[in-house]
Amino acid sequence: VRPVRTTSEASVNQSTPEQPADVVARLRATFRTGRTKPVAWRTGQLHRLRALLTERRDELAAALHTDLGKSAVEANRTEIDFTVREIDHSLRNLTEWLRPESAPVPAHLGSDARAWTQYDPLGVVLVIAPWNYPAQLLLAPVAGALAAGNAVVAKPSELAPATSAALARLLPEYLDTDAVAVVEGGVPETTALLAERFDHIFYTGNGTVGRVVMRAAAEHLTPVALELGGKSPAFVDRDVDLTVVADRLARGKYLNAGQTCVAPDYVLTDPATAAALEPELVRAVRELYGPEPKESGEYGRIVNERHFDRLSGLLGSGRVALGGDTDRAAKYIAPTVLADVDPGSPVMREEIFGPILPIVTVPDLDGAIGFINDRDKPLALYVFSESADTRDRIAAETSSGGLGLGLPVAHLTVSDLPFGGVGESGMGSYHGRYSIETFSHRKAVLAKPLS
Ligand code: NAD
Repeated sequence: VRPVRTTSEASVNQSTPEQPADVVARLRATFRTGRTKPVAWRTGQLHRLRALLTERRDELAAALHTDLGKSAVEANRTEIDFTVREIDHSLRNLTEWLRPESAPVPAHLGSDARAWTQYDPLGVVLVIAPWNYPAQLLLAPVAGALAAGNAVVAKPSELAPATSAALARLLPEYLDTDAVAVVEGGVPETTALLAERFDHIFYTGNGTVGRVVMRAAAEHLTPVALELGGKSPAFVDRDVDLTVVADRLARGKYLNAGQTCVAPDYVLTDPATAAALEPELVRAVRELYGPEPKESGEYGRIVNERHFDRLSGLLGSGRVALGGDTDRAAKYIAPTVLADVDPGSPVMREEIFGPILPIVTVPDLDGAIGFINDRDKPLALYVFSESADTRDRIAAETSSGGLGLGLPVAHLTVSDLPFGGVGESGMGSYHGRYSIETFSHRKAVLAKPLS
């Protein structure tokens, strides 16, 4: 087995790379001592993680700018402060969430019997994160796993190398290194990790690797959460205020240059609304990023050349109504709207995960519902409609990880909502109390006095 680079105290002190098996064994030994179980340890770690995020904000923001051209404002809003809010919510509610819940006892067990459920930590958890929100998508699950009383191996994405290095440097400075280890690396390192027995694996990324993770987990009967992606549609009804719709669509779509798992992937609407929406989107993007988005400090860059080339290849899938210009050296792709897009065209055959918004037309609501149900269950579905009937029909007749009525992306900022997918968009969920559910075993207890 190849050694992996970890930044635990052990590897720093001995300056020899720790094997994946040793990392897991070391963390498991800590877990067995019971050290991670008291609420005081958990909240202590959450406070330390919070301190990391606030005290080292600038280092993290600089790394996010290096990897993805994220502005400081965006880095703070969507990664650093987002995670701080998630931690604060957990600190406020943890005791309440962990409270055992009593269950009624059937009469045949006698009136002195008591039954309840309690949350047990699972043990050693592996968190594997992607590159698009490389800080948030590592640290929010890590916070959840710690709140639930686990030891954690955190594997940041090698495709966001500056953020990966920053996290590998900072986490051991702040957290209990006997219970939290960062393992950096790509496929070989992750493959070696996945050969080990974990008590839970929390994976965020694409479905192909999701299958690799689930196969490896099956070997040890390890439960998994798979936070995947897919094409999230935005249905725009006729007779809605298209100025508002375009503003909200543009903000959700072009955030992080479209590299957001819950970004509206494409617009579904009738032909007349499509024609009226086009100029509104042009205006909305101009208001967001000015006449030349390349010059705007608020507009991000594509993560690497491979994704730049893939996205550039999708630009021919329709009539360019806005944007379309690219600069490979700068990994820049303008905020783009494609009109008259054929449902069979390349841009409609894969998750776009970039700043290209195709508009696909359907005759009516039935056509839209059929279109959505003919495809993989999306991570998010957005509906812009003034009609309660239309909203209710879509809610009842389609399946998606989340549903945004009138506002894209923002549902994941509601800490009391579970965040996760269904079908091809994943399984399991987290945020707030749902992280406790995911990273704990809900143990059933029955007690009857001996006398
Ligand atoms: P990525 O390439 O960074 O991969 C994610 C992680 O998987 C990385 O840590 C990587 O090292 C690891 N990995 C890659 N290949 C592996 C292999 N063969 N074996 C084991 N591990 C491996 O990120 P990505 O997959 O390109 O991320 C983009 C996808 O993630 C999109 O589909 C997006 O929608 C989805 N996503 C989902 C969410 C969500 O919360 N549901 C959030 C962000 C992104």
